[in-house]
Amino acid sequence: MHANATINLSALTHNLSRVRQLAPQSKVMSVIKANAYGHGVLQVADALGDSDAFAVANLEEAVLLRDAGIDKDIVVLQGVNMADECVRASSSGLQLVVHSEEQVHLLETTNVDTALTVWLKIDTGMHRLGFDPAVAENVFLRLQQTSSVAEVRLMSHLANADDRQDPLTQKQIKCFSQAIAGSDTPRSLANSAGICNDLECQFDWVRPGIMLYGSSPFNTGTAADQQLQTVMTLRSNLLAVVQHRKGEAIGYSGSWVCPVDMPVGVVAIGYGDGYPRSAESGTPVLVNGQRVPLVGRVSMDMICIDLRECADARPGDEVVLWGDGLPVEEIARHAETISYELTCRLTSRVKFKYI
Ligand SMILES: *Cc1c(COP(=O)(O)O)cnc(C)c1O
Repeated sequence: MHANATINLSALTHNLSRVRQLAPQSKVMSVIKANAYGHGVLQVADALGDSDAFAVANLEEAVLLRDAGIDKDIVVLQGVNMADECVRASSSGLQLVVHSEEQVHLLETTNVDTALTVWLKIDTGMHRLGFDPAVAENVFLRLQQTSSVAEVRLMSHLANADDRQDPLTQKQIKCFSQAIAGSDTPRSLANSAGICNDLECQFDWVRPGIMLYGSSPFNTGTAADQQLQTVMTLRSNLLAVVQHRKGEAIGYSGSWVCPVDMPVGVVAIGYGDGYPRSAESGTPVLVNGQRVPLVGRVSMDMICIDLRECADARPGDEVVLWGDGLPVEEIARHAETISYELTCRLTSRVKFKYI
């Protein structure tokens, strides 16, 4: 018995069409970094073939897609830092984000066969990567005069858009609109939260990630509120159903004690599969479609669940950890993390099925 993840490819396609509905004037750069948020990048790229471009984090991820025969535009969100990487990006027809003086200098001093399309990243408030808006125009002009650069586009990234109330988002939108004012070069700002909010931040290109995978980009609510469909369902099976007596402690460190005589189920999944060890007692799982709570510590290969409300459960029965019928956002909240991390960190022990 082992954990398995089912990836619903038609839900992915549905979610992409939801992006198009929300941002009808914009081109769509589907973000498939980190193995498509843990969903399997080649299968996901295939299912999202209707995107206008893909975005990945680094050169390795981009080259993997090119080597697999994907010929769509691919944007490397971290850009590159070495001359040979620049040459490789050019020969593979990749687009580079440029966020630092070092990267500008690299482009100015590297000869490439085919000039590159680059995305100049402006720091409008994230304070991670990107140029100060005060120097952006100067950098923009320098890049335009660089022979290894064919076209300069503009991008920035939203820091707090998962919180609909946060005023920083409006400030970032204004700052980005005013940067290099008058230029009609294509611009890109919105991640999933920017696409789903009601603010004017879609510009020429949107960059959806999490919403494509059927998860809400906001810190409250679930994907269904955004009319998104669940893509990943993580399942395993009951290894055993054991009757315990009142007062017996369950699992490592005995953090949970049976309040009465009761059946406890043992499920074949644990942090060795990527199920979060931080999931607290009370985190829901579905057994035969019925919600029951996790009890005690998550182990490497197993979790224990309270079967009092599910007395007919038997070894071998199916358990859903998240996905259909159990939003991953809910599990993330019980584990003090976000859905992005849960899907990203499934381990190679989990078998993937694509339907
Ligand atoms: C990951 C990423 C995105 C996608 O963000 P979501 O919140 O998953 O929609 C967009 N832009 C950049 C620069 C990113 O790094």
